[in-house]
Amino acid sequence: KVCILRLGHRPERDQRVTTHVGLTARALGADGMYLAADDAGVVGSIGDVVERWGGAFFVEHRVPWKKCIRDWKEKGGIVAHLTMYGLEVGEVVSDIRQRTEDLLIIVGAEKVPGDVYGMVDYNVSVTNQPHSEISSLAVFLDRLFEGREIEHRFDGAKIRVEPCGAGKRVIEL
Ligand code: SAM
Repeated sequence: KVCILRLGHRPERDQRVTTHVGLTARALGADGMYLAADDAGVVGSIGDVVERWGGAFFVEHRVPWKKCIRDWKEKGGIVAHLTMYGLEVGEVVSDIRQRTEDLLIIVGAEKVPGDVYGMVDYNVSVTNQPHSEISSLAVFLDRLFEGREIEHRFDGAKIRVEPCGAGKRVIEL
């Protein structure tokens, strides 16, 4: 399993970005997202996408983040925190891939609590430049899955896009 732990979400201003973290995670092959905040709106909007577009991606909110990390590690999983201060993704991703199939990926919002850096197995950077949780997660997942996630088909979908060079072709299943 590959899951995301989203930290620092502020319901009044991060709803859109957190929803996009979840949608990116789902589209690029992750299994679910734990949200360390109280926001049923995010759970609902990603749930609506899953309902129509298929797959089994889950979102759990009101998750106590320290417990989430500890439980994950206790069950033998590995935890990677995406941060511009970490080791370069290219240096560590094959090590992570070989060590586990159960990976928890932490992404922050504004400022991640200092404790996180010491609690995780890896602090990983996607360049050492400041950018975004959405872009860092997308690049990291693509490297983790070595590009294979792009071909993933979602079971139980009600609709699917038929790729075409111009216009839009959507198939109702
Ligand atoms: N300034 C904040 C800090 O120092 O904790 C981070 C703000 S950034 C908008 C939000 C999140 O994007 C970070 O917590 C991290 O997960 C991710 N992020 C941003 N740039 C990154 C990078 N170069 N590599 C990996 N993750 C990055």
